[in-house]
Amino acid sequence: MTFDVIIIGGGPAGLAAAIYAGRAKLGGIILEKMSPGGQVLITDFVENYPGFVEGISGFELVEKFTEHAKRFGITVENGEVSSIEPVGAEFNLNLTDGRTITSKTVIITTGATHRKLGVKGEQELTGRGVSYCATCDGPFFKDQVVAVVGGGDSAVQEAIFLTKFAKKVYLIHRRDQLRAIKILQERAFSNDKIEFIWNSTVEEIKGKDQVEAIKIVNKLTGETSCLNVDGVFIFIGIEPTTHFVKGLVDMDQRGFIKTDEWMRTSVKGIYAAGDCRKKPLLQIVTAVAEGATAAFAVEHDLA
Ligand code: NAP
Repeated sequence: MTFDVIIIGGGPAGLAAAIYAGRAKLGGIILEKMSPGGQVLITDFVENYPGFVEGISGFELVEKFTEHAKRFGITVENGEVSSIEPVGAEFNLNLTDGRTITSKTVIITTGATHRKLGVKGEQELTGRGVSYCATCDGPFFKDQVVAVVGGGDSAVQEAIFLTKFAKKVYLIHRRDQLRAIKILQERAFSNDKIEFIWNSTVEEIKGKDQVEAIKIVNKLTGETSCLNVDGVFIFIGIEPTTHFVKGLVDMDQRGFIKTDEWMRTSVKGIYAAGDCRKKPLLQIVTAVAEGATAAFAVEHDLA
């Protein structure tokens, strides 16, 4: 059996693509390696998605997206793609469980994962005080002291979220200005539980069985210090999940897939949308718009 379209990844871009593909009566599925939702699933609160004036939890928003996608007949199936092989005008998608699925077109909406710091102790203490998900692990740090690394929207938003549990949150940023949007900055600056450590990087995470301390270097003075913390939350940006199409479609140096305005990649029949795509604004609202555009392009190109 050959599908019209296979959407790889069930985050906002993939679910929006499914709504549009389903309404266009294309035969297709979403392949998702875990649960639908992508990074939004582990986002505590979304307050910039239009229509939800008071905001909505990431979990609830994703539930609504999934329900909406299912309404138009595109089902979510479990599976992780390890490679895509062009065969004539079609594509064989090889899955990690050994299956091969064939489709006329493919929309890649695999999103991104958290970038690692790459310092001593990070890998060893992951799950033992080192975390990349405040929503998942924040409640374990009730009345404890944690550090957040990074200065973007994720770091600042999650630092604010962590103050619900932790008694103190250090926000460690490598510059003296945050990258995060102004409204988040204002909230963080007015939160008594957050202390900023500027112009500094974490060089090592220390601890025997659990995180006990971090070694920090001040980039301006070169001074090294040690800070006792119970947890370290790392939010220093994202890496696109595009390894399975490396060498097949054009990407930038960091692995973000290049597309045209129709979301077409360099390979005819393969499209990309959402956080795995090279673009200036990574938001739920842009991801869904790109998913819709990609499905529209598939419908147009197949016709
Ligand atoms: P980001 O915007 O790329 O910010 C990464 C932060 O980490 C920057 O402040 C960067 O410092 C710092 N950093 C990078 N590498 C580092 C290293 N090796 N050591 C120390 N610090 C390092 O990433 P993000 O915050 O994860 O956000 C990703 C995307 O999702 C963004 O487009 C963001 O707008 C979006 N997002 C939006 C929301 C929202 O709308 N509420 C929430 C979360 C995420 P510099 O500033 O010096 O570069």
